[in-house]
Amino acid sequence: MELLSERLRRLKPSATVAMNQKTKDLQAQGIDIINLSVGEPDFNTPDHVKEAAKKAIDENYSFYTPVAGYPELRQAIVRKLKRENNLEYKPDEIVVSNGAKHAIANTIMSLVDKGDEVVIPSPYWVSYADLVTLAEGTNVIVKTRLEDNFKMSAGMLEEAITPRTKALILCSPSNPTGSVYSYEEMSALADVLRRHPQVFVIADEIYEHINFVGRHVSMAQFEGLRERVITVNGVSKAYAMTGWRIGYMAAAPWIVKACINLQGQFTTGASSIAQRASIAALDGDPQVVENMRQAFERRKKLIVGLVSEISGIRLAIPDGAFYIFPDVSAFYGKQYNGFVIKNSDDMSLFLLDQGHIATVPGSAFGEDTCIRISYATSDEKISEAIRRMKDALALLK
Ligand code: PMP
Ligand code: GLU
Repeated sequence: MELLSERLRRLKPSATVAMNQKTKDLQAQGIDIINLSVGEPDFNTPDHVKEAAKKAIDENYSFYTPVAGYPELRQAIVRKLKRENNLEYKPDEIVVSNGAKHAIANTIMSLVDKGDEVVIPSPYWVSYADLVTLAEGTNVIVKTRLEDNFKMSAGMLEEAITPRTKALILCSPSNPTGSVYSYEEMSALADVLRRHPQVFVIADEIYEHINFVGRHVSMAQFEGLRERVITVNGVSKAYAMTGWRIGYMAAAPWIVKACINLQGQFTTGASSIAQRASIAALDGDPQVVENMRQAFERRKKLIVGLVSEISGIRLAIPDGAFYIFPDVSAFYGKQYNGFVIKNSDDMSLFLLDQGHIATVPGSAFGEDTCIRISYATSDEKISEAIRRMKDALALLK
């Protein structure tokens, strides 16, 4: 008899988390690796947020929190959704979780049954497909093209939907591609979704504020869709709070109730201190977020300029998030010292070994021709990393 459950035997480790850990282990051995693998802002959490957390400790916010989150935080989220997204929610339509990842997991576990189809445009963020598999759902991967900025058209969505489709997972701005759906593109997808009332939408808006083209578009804002859109967001990326582990979802009350039920059995409410800090983040001066956005935009220009100079690489210019997702397949079949690059895993390994830069293979995101490079790091490290990448690639013959 197998010791591990069948469910866990099917679950792959998260490639982004694994690559980050591997890099940290190598760095701990004294190896000078530039870490462009994990997606997290390199900024410190803003001071007013840290102050709110210290105050929360002093004021004894040390007891179990309500499973769905403190009422004050749920209200701050309601205000945020109104102010920034023009979405009307009530506090009892919000669940606070341990990060947006947890909110996505809760939603998938609450909605997806064995055999239900979930449409996921590829390249997709690592955890979507694995969470759907954990829920025994079937991933319907819609492959998008670099030439189309890795965006799914309304026609592609229409074609992917069947009577078994339970949900669509849409991430804009996207991890790993950085593509951002415009109002018109989103509206065209919304038209398709209106024709298929059985399809829910998990709208992952975690990169909302890291947008270089303009106003963020939420799927829930489109007429007739609000009741079946689950909007997921959090404080990790916008406020440089990845380690605080606060994310949230806004959805119809029956979905919220199911997620509270699940969370009540799995984790109870999220950290009291982090929740108090998140209220300060959401209610704080938006200029703090804008300053970080501007830094990301500057770095994007820097990295896009540098990578474009490497011959053989193809790149779609990202409009948001903090990743580039270059196509490196022109190097497949080439070798260095007997090591033949056959795929994106080989390429990431080669760049780690020969260039001492950590990236994530595109295979983790369903697109083996590419690798993901996070530019959420200093200008100096970006310049040095791309110089190393260019030198390493020049070794391949
Ligand atoms: N969605 C996407 C697309 C992400 O890149 C991340 C970052 N890991 C998450 C969700 C989860 O964010 P959090 O840190 O809030 O769990
Ligand atoms: N969102 C980040 C990434 O994609 C964090 C790691 C993770 O949670 O997967 O690298």
